[in-house]
Amino acid sequence: MEATEKTIKLAVNGGIDFGSKLNAKQLIILAKYLEEDQELELTTFQQLYIEIPESRKEEAIAEFAQAGLSCYPVGSFVKSLRTCNFCKGAEEEGMPVAIDLNKRIAGKPVPFTLKPAYTGCPVGCGEPLINDIGIMKVKDGYSLYAGGKSKGQDARPGTLLYEQLTQDELYQKVDILIDIYNENGKKREPVHKFIAQFGKSELLEMINAVFQSKKQDDL
Ligand code: SF4
Repeated sequence: MEATEKTIKLAVNGGIDFGSKLNAKQLIILAKYLEEDQELELTTFQQLYIEIPESRKEEAIAEFAQAGLSCYPVGSFVKSLRTCNFCKGAEEEGMPVAIDLNKRIAGKPVPFTLKPAYTGCPVGCGEPLINDIGIMKVKDGYSLYAGGKSKGQDARPGTLLYEQLTQDELYQKVDILIDIYNENGKKREPVHKFIAQFGKSELLEMINAVFQSKKQDDL
């Protein structure tokens, strides 16, 4: 019997830009790694799942990167940042901040798949309130939500943790929040359950304490 080669799954998208799009070159590169009867899976999170032979993993990641495709691990990791379409312009709606934030957090290991979402104005097209971590740009500041639940009959918006954060405060508070969840969350415990268990005030106290001590270290 012919031995079949082990495959691995990669999450791929075209990165953060105006809308979630792929160009023809990117589609051709993806097709190179697919058999005729193989399928790409389109997730609800602006990612495509592609299964490739394990031996071609490095080659595929390098070739995808050359074509401007971003690759992320599949499983209990922070997913790539889901964003709105930045209809009012990149600068005004904070696209550079979304790109930086995605670089900082996407792919970090966590107790259970964590979906972060960003939206450039209060209209909220990126649906930040129903994701694990949600960021909404409001005027010149950033609101940070956590623990939203999009599925099930008990779907609900996340808790507002902070309003009018600066760019730097946003980066640090999101980093600290993910670290706290990572250190204290049980295996396969989603963010909304973790926050309910841990308590919003305890969580805020811990985030603020770590934030202040980092500030002291930087002085
Ligand atoms: S959230 Fe605001 S900036 Fe982003 S696509 Fe919607 S309306 Fe445009």
